[in-house]
Amino acid sequence: MQPLLLALLIAVSLGAYAAPRPNIVVILADDLGYGDLGCYGHPTIKTPHLDKMAAEGLRFTQFYSAAEVCTPSRAALLTGRYPIRSGMAHNQFRVLRAISTGGLPASEVTLAQTLKDAGYATGIIGKWHLGVWANNQPQHHPLAHGFDFHFGLMHSNDMNPSDKPKPPRANALVAQDPEWWNAALYRGRELLEPRTDQTQLSKRYAEEATKFIGTNKDKPFFLYIPHTFPHTPLFASERFKGKSSRGIYGDVLAELDWNVGEVLKALKANGVADNTLVFFTSDNGPWTLMGTETGGSAGLLKDGKGSTWEGGMRVPGIAWWPGKIKPGVTDNVGTMLDLYPTAAKLAGAKIPNDRPMDGADLSSLLLEERAVDRGLFCYYRGEKLFAARLGDWKIHFITQGSYGDPKPVEHAKPLLFNLAVDPSEAHEISADHPDVVARLAAAVEQHRATVVPVRSQLIDVVAK
Ligand code: MG
Repeated sequence: MQPLLLALLIAVSLGAYAAPRPNIVVILADDLGYGDLGCYGHPTIKTPHLDKMAAEGLRFTQFYSAAEVCTPSRAALLTGRYPIRSGMAHNQFRVLRAISTGGLPASEVTLAQTLKDAGYATGIIGKWHLGVWANNQPQHHPLAHGFDFHFGLMHSNDMNPSDKPKPPRANALVAQDPEWWNAALYRGRELLEPRTDQTQLSKRYAEEATKFIGTNKDKPFFLYIPHTFPHTPLFASERFKGKSSRGIYGDVLAELDWNVGEVLKALKANGVADNTLVFFTSDNGPWTLMGTETGGSAGLLKDGKGSTWEGGMRVPGIAWWPGKIKPGVTDNVGTMLDLYPTAAKLAGAKIPNDRPMDGADLSSLLLEERAVDRGLFCYYRGEKLFAARLGDWKIHFITQGSYGDPKPVEHAKPLLFNLAVDPSEAHEISADHPDVVARLAAAVEQHRATVVPVRSQLIDVVAK
């Protein structure tokens, strides 16, 4: 056989002429509020790269994280399921702690695993918070959940305060020293630094992401970049520190924004930008309890992190794919739960069919501008369903302020808001719409019937 013909036959048999499957990049900020980016109306925080990404892509005005705090939110993103289903929520503990021995159960199938099974290279760079593998729990490592490559922290950057030197006050304190926090940095299972210099983290995440993209440019890849910031304590490198009129919070976001710019730059430099979907969002609303200096903004939305008012769970959402996603702004509701089925659809990967999945495939919205009615969206606080949205309407069965507020209020007569006209949830109108209240309550009961109680993974801790 002629060498040329042979090469052609081999190329065809390898599928070289099939449409290339897109790379998927998910960038997750930590505790970034709905009002914290330039493209979402912040007057003084400068986010030019994200603003450009939004201008070139599709910016959601009604995108939701699937939980009000870190651990359940990340579980939802990676499983496409409400965290109540996997045991990754708890009413009291809220998130996994440094002493936790629970974690994402092996029975859960992550988006990374699904894409890996479909032939994708998979990487995570940043904060995991789905299990503390250093507590003799190797099954809770990202490498045990479908990721081939890992670089980053096990959990939040404030979870191991140092004994020596001891932080003088809580982590809301503006002037921070990286020496106060034992933020252990890992590459895979190797502990690189027990107390990493957090001022360098955003820069190092960008370097690792750039390397990962270069290494994997010739095959489809899934890269998940869950940032450490703007979760407090806040640290920026010398290049960004002291530059923003918004203070350290603005400095940190400017550096996070730069990091996003570096990722997009690497995609372009490696010639894969036009075959990559990048989605940017946040794990929950702003940690308003941290005050004016280090807590973010939910903009026109009520409350923040920890709450099921809109500010706790409605977050920025930006989809970018040059040449595929038409630039625009959408008020179609989307949620973090939807990223799993959307990515799987684009990758031609199979999603689990032996369990309830809670996301909707948004690919036709992204690529064809066709509206997707994703149906009921439930707002859980811990293991309790506090509120739900269907269409423009939101019903609250229980309300409670942000993280730390001890007083939940159960509403015998649920509250009703029309989010299309009242995104700030200022006007309670249940008395005018008993039919809507009944319709939403019925939809919620249908959802509840699909939930099988499981023991929370957030309870167990290392024995003393
Ligand atoms: Mg968070």
